[in-house]
Amino acid sequence: MSATAVAEDLNLHRITRQQFDRAVPFADDLHGWRGIADWLFEPEHIMEVTLPVRMDDGFVHMFRGYRVLHSAIRGPGKGGVRFHPSAGIDEVKALATWMSWKCALVDVPFGGAKGGVACDTHRLSAREKERVTRRFTAALGDTIGPHTDIPAPDLYTDAQTMAWMYDTYSMMHPGEANLPVVTGKPVELGGLAARDGATARGAFYVTDHFLAIGGLAGVDSLDGRTVAIQGFGSAGRHAAGLFRDAGALVVAVSDSRGGIYDPAGLNVRAVGRFKDETGTVVGFPGSESLPQAGVLELECDILIPAAIENQITIRNASRVQARLVVEAANGPTTPAADDILAERGIKLLPDVLANAGGVVVSYFEWAQNIENQKWEEADVVEKLRTRMQRATEVVLTRRTALVEGLDGYREAWEEATKSSALVARPDLRTAAQVVAIQRCRTAALQRGVWP
Ligand code: NAD
Repeated sequence: MSATAVAEDLNLHRITRQQFDRAVPFADDLHGWRGIADWLFEPEHIMEVTLPVRMDDGFVHMFRGYRVLHSAIRGPGKGGVRFHPSAGIDEVKALATWMSWKCALVDVPFGGAKGGVACDTHRLSAREKERVTRRFTAALGDTIGPHTDIPAPDLYTDAQTMAWMYDTYSMMHPGEANLPVVTGKPVELGGLAARDGATARGAFYVTDHFLAIGGLAGVDSLDGRTVAIQGFGSAGRHAAGLFRDAGALVVAVSDSRGGIYDPAGLNVRAVGRFKDETGTVVGFPGSESLPQAGVLELECDILIPAAIENQITIRNASRVQARLVVEAANGPTTPAADDILAERGIKLLPDVLANAGGVVVSYFEWAQNIENQKWEEADVVEKLRTRMQRATEVVLTRRTALVEGLDGYREAWEEATKSSALVARPDLRTAAQVVAIQRCRTAALQRGVWP
């Protein structure tokens, strides 16, 4: 391992601060900004709970859970709950922060929040997972609620998990209209059919529109383009189907056990069925095996990290061969890797834009539940498309404006980054965060500092 690789800081919360510090110099109206920056960045509420859970063998196991409300400036907190062995406070703080920027960027009336329980779902029975979920929900108590903080699925949680959360919360709040307390619920329980694939669909609309409006020189559609996807869960699997249906060749996919490759294009529906039967994509008939991280370095047009954070780092960014990276996952690329990709001319559609489809459809589900209505799926999908396309245009336009107006920001940017080498390239991530941070700041100033 090289010295630079050792030096890279992979702490997710510090990464969110680095990204934020890159964006702040580009936010205009700097008057009074410095104090407000800390207000916007620091999480509002941090909760850590211990969860005694009776396991199937009769023993009691202690789990640790977290919920962070990063910001309620623009509305109640919104963000998923993940069940993952590495879930910890800094990770959850970072994910909550990204949710604030994401909600502001796609203009849904929510702030940012996130939750997590440190556990390995591969080692839990369904009954144990249910007991962890219910105990976690009970421990969160009234920190969550339809108008305070609204959880949703994330890594290794799903509609069933949300049904258990809803049911537990309802037991604690009898006689109230509790459906909007969580989103991503089963359709029969007030969910939206479109929620399941919404994150991937959002990533698809963003990518498709980015190409259509000239974001990638010489490529104006997905037709015939090669795509590699890391992760084959909710985000990755749906993305594979959508990109394939648009005429792209999905040449590689991976999951936590490894990757598979077929230069002629994988039959992604058959891969899905194979994963349902065997638990992994590895060994899919007719495919070539790849090492787990190999999918990231494959020659292709579009790379979609759709698994976990810190996957494209200083160690492998120079080996990425895609022309466009679409971050369906949260935080898959480190700031140092961002710079390497930018220097190499590789474009990147950042997480706060590319995976915002999930929270957009969650907002529709929440609104449907508040109104006691049942929305048509076709309307939901159309509204999602419009919002994702608009957000893509906003980011691209802002990025162009930042580059054209760079001289006006040069001093502040150099001071913030301490590196004049970075001056020439405010990227799409920085542009997206500038838009989001400015919207949060405007709301904060309109509300004022209380008391
Ligand atoms: P999921 O649990 O449904 O699927 C995760 C997938 O990633 C699985 O296929 C798993 O095998 C794979 N994986 C895990 N570790 C891996 C590794 N080291 N290498 C390759 N594959 C690996 O989770 P999801 O909901 O699809 O979430 C994936 C990412 O998308 C996360 O970063 C999540 O925060 C983000 N995201 C999800 C949503 C949503 O609505 N589900 C919304 C926004 C962002």
